[in-house]
Amino acid sequence: FDLRNEDLRDLHELGQGNGGSVKKVEHIPTGKFMAKKIVLIDAKPTVRKQILRELQIMHDCNSKYIISFWGAFLADPNICMCIEFMDKGSFDNIYKKIGPIDIDVVGKVALAVLEGLTYLYDVHRIIHRDIKPSNILCNSAGEIKICDFGVSGELINSIADTFVGTSTYMSPERIQGAHYTVKSDVWSLGISLIELALGRFPFSESLSDDSDLSDFEGTLSPARPGSMNSLASLGLPPPRARNRDKDKAEKAKKDKRKSKGVSLQGGGMTMSILELLQHIVNEPAPRLSGFPEQAETFVDSCLFKDPAERKTPKDLLKDEWIMYARTASVDLEAWASTF
Ligand code: ATP
Ligand code: MG
Repeated sequence: FDLRNEDLRDLHELGQGNGGSVKKVEHIPTGKFMAKKIVLIDAKPTVRKQILRELQIMHDCNSKYIISFWGAFLADPNICMCIEFMDKGSFDNIYKKIGPIDIDVVGKVALAVLEGLTYLYDVHRIIHRDIKPSNILCNSAGEIKICDFGVSGELINSIADTFVGTSTYMSPERIQGAHYTVKSDVWSLGISLIELALGRFPFSESLSDDSDLSDFEGTLSPARPGSMNSLASLGLPPPRARNRDKDKAEKAKKDKRKSKGVSLQGGGMTMSILELLQHIVNEPAPRLSGFPEQAETFVDSCLFKDPAERKTPKDLLKDEWIMYARTASVDLEAWASTF
């Protein structure tokens, strides 16, 4: 059907990202709930139309591991995309709510993401470019799907300025300026899986106890005067203000999670974004420890720093832990009903 903004009733906000916000809406003619993503873009009308055309490819993406696309339209000065509403939200919010995710569920996440990436690349030659927990969604049927992949080259160009949050899942070769390949997505998957299993972003272990930095907004806080200038010189926006109440709740949860960990070499107290990017390039990749060996080995293979050593999503579907995840009798529907 043809989507029109007038036919959508806004219900409530589902979240905000760097480029815009996402609202739960009802499509009045059909009574269907959808997620409406509003992207603020500073582009000429011709470019906007080009973006809309490129987004139409999403209509052809049919996989149970990819979010369904209902349509896109211009709502000056924004571009709106309506996608399948996933009632259990994204995995970053899930672990912030319930704490570290059970490793067998993490295995199912790995399997779903690899299937989704393989479908996008094999069928459409699309590289995702933004794998991270907030782009992995779950619903109460226990389905896991990925969203926000790079279908539109023009859209990628138009929002490149607001790219900051994403860079933490960026592979060493990307930070060093190499082109995106499917293997860069595999790195991002490895970082995301550690984050879910630990219940915190893996690069924040060395931070001092009273600064809760379970998400990247925290790790952005500049360590010393001058780092703000460095952010500006990179063309990156300054960090957003932190939400103190949320921080306190996070800290209470974090205290429970201390047992399993990934340690950050070097032991600085707070990392600025530049330090983090340097860390990713120069230091050993984070690892899981204290988990089943197959899970640890899989994560290690996602995080080979040299992309030549890293496998593609398709090859990783043959990994032992992923084969186990495929047959593992984890009832995701029951799991999703617990939060
Ligand atoms: P970034 O802007 O860095 O990519 P993000 O992925 O968190 O970060 P958005 O893509 O704008 O930003 O999404 C904001 C939030 O909206 C997500 O974190 C997620 O929790 C929620 N969300 C997005 N799409 C859906 C959906 N289809 N169903 C339910 N919730 C969604
Ligand atoms: Mg997103």
